[in-house]
Amino acid sequence: MIALHEPVFSGREWRYLKECLDSGWVSSSGGFVDRFEETARGALGARHAVAVVNGTAALHLALRAAGVSRDCEVLVPSLTFIATANAAAYLGAVPRFVDCEGTTLGMDPDSVADYLRLKARLSAGACVDKDSGRRIAACVPVHAFGHPARLDRIIEVCGRWRIPVVEDAAESLGSTFQGKAAGTFGLLGCLSFNGNKIITTGGGGMVVTSDRRLAALVRHLSTQAKADPATYRHDMVGYNYRLPGINAALGCAQLEALDAFVQKKRRIAGWYREALSGAKGLSLLWEPPQSRSNFWLNTVLADSPARARALMKRLASRAVECRAPWKPCHLQGIHEPLSAGTLGVCERVWRTAFNVPSSASLSRDDVRRVGRLLSPKRDAGRGSRP
Ligand SMILES: *Cc1c(COP(=O)(O)O)cnc(C)c1O
Repeated sequence: MIALHEPVFSGREWRYLKECLDSGWVSSSGGFVDRFEETARGALGARHAVAVVNGTAALHLALRAAGVSRDCEVLVPSLTFIATANAAAYLGAVPRFVDCEGTTLGMDPDSVADYLRLKARLSAGACVDKDSGRRIAACVPVHAFGHPARLDRIIEVCGRWRIPVVEDAAESLGSTFQGKAAGTFGLLGCLSFNGNKIITTGGGGMVVTSDRRLAALVRHLSTQAKADPATYRHDMVGYNYRLPGINAALGCAQLEALDAFVQKKRRIAGWYREALSGAKGLSLLWEPPQSRSNFWLNTVLADSPARARALMKRLASRAVECRAPWKPCHLQGIHEPLSAGTLGVCERVWRTAFNVPSSASLSRDDVRRVGRLLSPKRDAGRGSRP
């Protein structure tokens, strides 16, 4: 069986976990949380980092810190994990879904620009939707499968319309755009360390920002907004969202391996490219321009839904785990299907793309095996080559 994505624990994981247990500080008060934040800050080149219980909590707090509140709208790509849209809904805000680009699978900045030009107005420095009358309080680009969205253009368009950008960088730790870490372009950025991400803390997340005030607010909200620990005085309705030390201990060891994971994943992507070159009706989603991608999950694009379905079935029957992208949010039936422009690209991607195994532990032979299943003609030709 070749899994879609498995974690690799071959560094100091045991050592740090033992240190954490031996110290007795398994909750958030031990030194590992600070150390994890400090190391992550360094890895990203971010000014401030706040570790939280998961990526969804990171999005929730980041959106709140960005000023999202009840009856606002939040621009979200429809092709994303549901958490991106849910985080807006937790605050009583309404997600408005944007199409993705075929080249990055990230939010299409031109759709956003066209939509705002037609439907938005600036009112007292805030962007308001002319039809709904609601404030467009944030825009959340997602770096799908690790590939950075077109950040320069997204930042420019949202800047012009005074819309704060909160990056969902849950999948893109280790990726850069124009040499700068994905997650550090927006007002705030959110990471996830779930078990299937490029590094894991079991469950975990992080908010990064260069704004000291916002970092303090996120930290405050993540610890029940406790204004005075001695007297249990709280000055806001906060959340119990702080990352426990035992998870951070795991994270410290995983972060030490991040560069090696990215390097290995880039090699795996290269092997897939080789294995799929000339494959009929298939292409591999490649690194977007101006980006260095972590290639978290490799994505194969088929020329028809029927071909994608047939190939996924074949992989599954040969014990190779694969998966279609998320069902677009606007089709889920749990959020109002409000859109900003058309959503044809993400619907097509949903039906024609699929993710293939991408663990950092994969060998070249594993990738070749997957490649032969996807491109049997090459397989048949192999023996007859002189
Ligand atoms: C994983 C993920 C999240 C949520 O992270 P959790 O840690 O699972 O809560 C949010 N957005 C995207 C795009 C993700 O892949």
